[in-house]
Amino acid sequence: MKILLATSEALPFAKSGGLGDFIYSYSKTLAKKGHDVSVVMPLYKVIRDKHPEVMNDHYDTFDFNMGGRMQGCGCFRQKVEGVNFYFLAMDRFDRDELYGYGDDDERFACFQMGVNTFVTRHNEYDVVHCNDWQTGVIPLLLKYNPRPIKTIITIHNPAFQGWTAREHVGNWFNLDSFWYDNGTVRMGDCFNYLKTGIMTADRITTVSKTHRNELMNDSLGFGGIGNVIRMRENDFVGIVNGLDTDIWDPTTDPHLAKNYSIYDYKIGKRINRDAILEILGMDNSFRGPLFSAITRLSGQKGVDRIISAMDEMKRCDGRLIVIGTGDMENEVLMNALNHPEVYLVRRYDENLAHLLYAASDYFLMPSYFEPCGTSQMISMRYGTVPIVSNVGGLADTVIDLGAGNNGTGFVFNNSDPSAFMNCLISASQHYYQPGIDHLIRNGMKGDYGWNRNADEFVNLYNSIVK
Ligand code: ADP
Repeated sequence: MKILLATSEALPFAKSGGLGDFIYSYSKTLAKKGHDVSVVMPLYKVIRDKHPEVMNDHYDTFDFNMGGRMQGCGCFRQKVEGVNFYFLAMDRFDRDELYGYGDDDERFACFQMGVNTFVTRHNEYDVVHCNDWQTGVIPLLLKYNPRPIKTIITIHNPAFQGWTAREHVGNWFNLDSFWYDNGTVRMGDCFNYLKTGIMTADRITTVSKTHRNELMNDSLGFGGIGNVIRMRENDFVGIVNGLDTDIWDPTTDPHLAKNYSIYDYKIGKRINRDAILEILGMDNSFRGPLFSAITRLSGQKGVDRIISAMDEMKRCDGRLIVIGTGDMENEVLMNALNHPEVYLVRRYDENLAHLLYAASDYFLMPSYFEPCGTSQMISMRYGTVPIVSNVGGLADTVIDLGAGNNGTGFVFNNSDPSAFMNCLISASQHYYQPGIDHLIRNGMKGDYGWNRNADEFVNLYNSIVK
């Protein structure tokens, strides 16, 4: 079976969040298990700048028609860890950032039309696995492919859906207005890429079992996407993401000041704590816990809760280091400036993130919604106890200490306004008690890799490819 993953981002080339981790770690696992797997993604400027070697293998060049206008597209190829990566080069991706532009709807229309042409020209794939709104229209486009191709769409973040005007059904995607009129691609009075994927893919997945239920019950909103998903209930499954345990391994991680394992984590974490405090010029004479958050600073991630946690630092003689960027950056900065115990690193910094996971005692992830989340799994592997809300993948992967012997973290009720602060105070107190080591060890022993979950995907592919 030949599998093609269509995505807007993937490590080791371009990442803004969990999707980039997912594609790389999952595709590597499939390749290791002997499957024929490829990834197709845009050739961003950042890839040309940081990985110019991808331009060495020019695989193809083609044009495609977008409502009467011809769009040129180059295609480059590189094999990494057994996975074929294909990069589609178009002028619209030659910009500093991956996303966040006013014409993202048109940029990813170009990308999807490019993927459609690529698949038709190299007509060898059995399954095209799409991811999020940036690839949502591909399942419908591929219905016109001369050879039937099965499609899957995975919803990583339903808050982003790819809304655009109805006329673009025809003038960007060359699709008949019939698809809009019959409701397949229409949401309210707009064309919605994610809805299109949900309506037209052979199977739909999301990245945790709890998030599947949240979407089915519409318990978190998302502009009525639950009504759409319920129509596909029997084709909709939740499969929890795995973690890249090659990259995220405290025994080998090259970014740490000291590698450590479950046997020597106390000394290992202490050395990493001293190292990060020195790098950031912070005083290391405090006795309490080091808290951390490494995140997009957006409302979804519970940034207001992270801000409210700042007051607790003085009380418990602790410190908080936040690494993040996003639309709530200024708010976090203003509050951090009023709290000498808090330090904000205001950039995307992969290297420092590794060190901080290792250095800290507690990881804050008080998200309002979290389809899966990667950071809580990383932190548990690094012996950093997560403090999380009981939503989505956080509920599926972190076991509250109150649940008995298997506890790996602190899980609080998302809908109770005082629960986070109570949980934080309880965590601060536990820091001084021996029971905390039990939580740390349970977390470090957990199996967060892809092995088991990748098989769930393969079974799904097999169930549709006859
Ligand atoms: P999401 O995909 O919603 O952003 P995830 O928890 O699934 O959230 O993935 C976030 C990933 O991005 C984690 O690997 C985290 O360490 C990383 N990350 C987020 N912000 C930063 C940052 N400013 N610097 C370095 N890594 C970051």
